[in-house]
Amino acid sequence: MKCPICDKGNLKKGTVKEVMFGTYLGDFPAQICDSCGESYTDQETTRNIEKIAKAKGIWGLGKKTTIAKTGNSLAVRIPKEIASYLHVSEGMEVYIHPDKEKIVIECSKRQGRQQSP
Ligand SMILES: [Zn+2]
Repeated sequence: MKCPICDKGNLKKGTVKEVMFGTYLGDFPAQICDSCGESYTDQETTRNIEKIAKAKGIWGLGKKTTIAKTGNSLAVRIPKEIASYLHVSEGMEVYIHPDKEKIVIECSKRQGRQQSP
């Protein structure tokens, strides 16, 4: 079967490591393109992944938000589902930095990662 994304590679049976918002969900059977590396899971597997993501409380955490203006800065509204998942609250200090076209906000207290204080 040809890959529908790149139209060059062939799909081969393999396993894909499923990670959602940085949380590892497991290894799942998938068809993987030998050219671009795109992976495809069947409906049953996709439903299974969804079930695991829901059980871990991360399903649907990706959301649209609006940027507001506060004085000379901009403020990003953090949806309450994400705030409660990451245990962030008003007044908490977080570390913010760009990552190409992303804005990364690290909540050090929960993650305990290596980063500047
Ligand atoms: Zn491909």
